[in-house]
Amino acid sequence: MEVIIPKSVGFCHGVKKTLLLADKVIKDSKDLGIPCYCIGKLIHNPKVVSAFKEKGLNLISSVEEIHKDIKSALVLISAHGCANSVKKTITERGFEFTDGSCVNIRRTQKKILDALKHNRAVIVLGIEGHSETVTLMGTSEDDMNVFLVYDDISLKNVIQKIPDSKSVTVVCQTTFPPSLFEKYSSEIKLAIKDTEIVDSICNICIKRMNSYKKFASETDAVMVIGSKNSENTKNMASFLSDFNSNVYLIEDVSDLSDSNVKNELSRFKKVLLCSGTSTPLDEVLTVSDNLILV
Ligand code: SF4
Repeated sequence: MEVIIPKSVGFCHGVKKTLLLADKVIKDSKDLGIPCYCIGKLIHNPKVVSAFKEKGLNLISSVEEIHKDIKSALVLISAHGCANSVKKTITERGFEFTDGSCVNIRRTQKKILDALKHNRAVIVLGIEGHSETVTLMGTSEDDMNVFLVYDDISLKNVIQKIPDSKSVTVVCQTTFPPSLFEKYSSEIKLAIKDTEIVDSICNICIKRMNSYKKFASETDAVMVIGSKNSENTKNMASFLSDFNSNVYLIEDVSDLSDSNVKNELSRFKKVLLCSGTSTPLDEVLTVSDNLILV
């Protein structure tokens, strides 16, 4: 089997930076003899996350999980960021934090703060409960003027709630599905006269998807490696399915050991192998080595 691997697979710059910071936090905590924690999942890749846990990084979902007797600790904020109130709690507990959130998410947060400062309401287009959506919604304490839209019903409700006279700024989660972003922004623009649309979808994801579509249409199958919880991985699989009818989403090489998957793959002569932005290049190469043998 021939395997095509585009140049841009592997970690994006946001994930690379977060992991470098994680290594630094672990090293500093060892030097200082104090524990270190990461608020949130660090990144969407279970193997990478468990490697960091083994190195000494404790994963927590809230500051309250740090035992009250611990007076000194280093806290890393994960790639998806966290609400402002969480940063406040970390500081109130007397802990030092390192912000590992991606610059793209911080840019969207700045847009939210600017809009609120100018008395505009903010609509966040995001997946309900996703950690980045929680971060964006919690950017400011002025949360009365920040509204979440995640589906058609919430869109209708939010439009009804915003007074006619109010100006609105629309931002979105970096991995929000582009087709939904277009649909919801157009509907908001039609309903609210003074609407500013900020396209905050991650450019890296869009560039990767667009550069893969030619390969996808020229191969027998497409395999996307990434976590099933990762929005950019799911978006990529869904986008590429418009160009190839055999798109598979796998978490890692262990998914290839299933004999049904092997049988299915043996039909193909040429496969495009690509990844979500939290998948290490090593994992892509390992899957490639195994595919060549199918
Ligand atoms: S996918 Fe984009 S937004 Fe998410 S961490 Fe990577 S660069 Fe940042």
